[in-house]
Amino acid sequence: MREVGHFIGGMHVAGTSGCTTEIFQPMDGTVQGHVALATPAEVRAAVENAKAAQPAWAATNPQRRVRVMRKFLELVEAEYDSLAELLAREHGKTIPDAKGDIQRGLEVVEVCLGAAHMLKGEFSDSAGTGIDVYSMRQPLGVVAGITPFNFPAMIPLWKAGPAIVSGNAFILKPSERDPGVPMRLAELFIEAGLPAGIFNVVNGDKQAVDAILDDPDIKAVGFVGSTPIAQYIYTRATANGKRAQCFGGAKNHMIIMPDADMDQTVDALIGAGYGSAGERCMAISVAVPVGKDTADRLVERLIPRVESLKVGPSTDMSADYGPVVTKQALERIQGYVNLGVEEGAKLVVDGRGFTMQGYENGFYMGGCLFDHVTPDMRIYKEEIFGPVLGIVRADTYEDAIRLPNEHEYGNGVAIFTRDGDAARDFASRVQVGMVGINVPIPVPIAYYTFGGWKGSGFGDLNQHGPDAFRFYTKTKTVTSRWPSGVKDGAEFVIPTMK
Ligand code: NAD
Repeated sequence: MREVGHFIGGMHVAGTSGCTTEIFQPMDGTVQGHVALATPAEVRAAVENAKAAQPAWAATNPQRRVRVMRKFLELVEAEYDSLAELLAREHGKTIPDAKGDIQRGLEVVEVCLGAAHMLKGEFSDSAGTGIDVYSMRQPLGVVAGITPFNFPAMIPLWKAGPAIVSGNAFILKPSERDPGVPMRLAELFIEAGLPAGIFNVVNGDKQAVDAILDDPDIKAVGFVGSTPIAQYIYTRATANGKRAQCFGGAKNHMIIMPDADMDQTVDALIGAGYGSAGERCMAISVAVPVGKDTADRLVERLIPRVESLKVGPSTDMSADYGPVVTKQALERIQGYVNLGVEEGAKLVVDGRGFTMQGYENGFYMGGCLFDHVTPDMRIYKEEIFGPVLGIVRADTYEDAIRLPNEHEYGNGVAIFTRDGDAARDFASRVQVGMVGINVPIPVPIAYYTFGGWKGSGFGDLNQHGPDAFRFYTKTKTVTSRWPSGVKDGAEFVIPTMK
């Protein structure tokens, strides 16, 4: 049985609270270990270590910091297979999908290798007589990241990479459901040459999070998780004077126009709706065919594809998706399917009774497909976060675009069409942060930014891309003049350029 503590000041430390929670192996439902839940004093110990280490790291020149990141990247790549297996065993996703989770994180680390350029300031020669003006980006100090269970490698790396390479010390509070990969990443950072105290992992629940939110030495908090918690963290962190960027839940629509290539659309929809058991913030959970004929053609093709999805244990390399993360998650998802039936949506594929032979205690759920979902239903309004796709039939394009525009969430959206005008209009008018045109999961590449709108994101700056460097640094602007023998005398009016 594994006992997971914390990683503070460059080493593993056992938890002292006496409180732990179980780490499950979703593919067979067994308990594979326990993770400690930190007390405020343990969070404070991490902050003290981070605070002590940060000034020397900030004073290390950016290219040397980049070299540590480069070495870290190589070490993670060398461990791809074992890290992916560890991730899959704790999370439940398949090993190939777990590799994607790690790879998407590393792509942001690759962008961090250009940090020396990203952190450059600006310079204006002779902005006034004998006056030069320049700006510099300086790290904030100690910053923290609070991350969800569904991408235990990618999201910690999206946060920690830009924060660390910018000269900050970082405290990660990963999800208590799958802490194994973050703890291994902490060891690899040390092996790569990162000074002790610059990357710390504090495991825990609300108590640890609240200690982070209230600690005056933590200057910024990056959060990813569900919307109610994102909103809570944003409110409490900003009330305490911290910078905060908090990303929440989603309900991502795919609009299917009558001219869409139906084979391509169905392939895209099946992967985006059911991959990772639907436990992705960019999963498509609502399909919106435009016109009755489009809807009928879509449903006819989709039903056999959903019925033949291959659900399997995380170690089955040919499975389409694996179990969901916990028994509670499974029960919540099944509860939503029951609710959809009660609300009057037509359940055309029912995956509720699925069991996996040889893994009867695993947290498996077959693919579910609802037709005739309407916008007033809770299964439309709320995030289900499981292998459940709903079809909302729209009569016209205007009816279709109104759906994502009026939805509480605004993370991702896609349109499938051959019509350039429709696609262009859609990209311009849709009230959602990330848009795909014939691309079902439009997660932006690492050198663009990632962030949802409305209830999917709180704060001004997005994750990764240029925004990440802005979020983790503050700008200082220097106006300088060297003595030149000219005597201006005392000035009592505000200096201007007149
Ligand atoms: P969650 O909100 O339950 O937990 C996220 C983090 O918050 C965890 O570290 C958890 O320990 C902590 N937490 C949980 N309850 C808390 C509380 N009451 N007070 C303080 N901290 C608390 O989310 P989850 O179930 O781990 O992840 C799934 C959710 O994350 C989904 O809603 C999904 O859409 C969302 N998500 C969003 C994005 C995005 O970029 N928008 C990306 C991935 C996941």
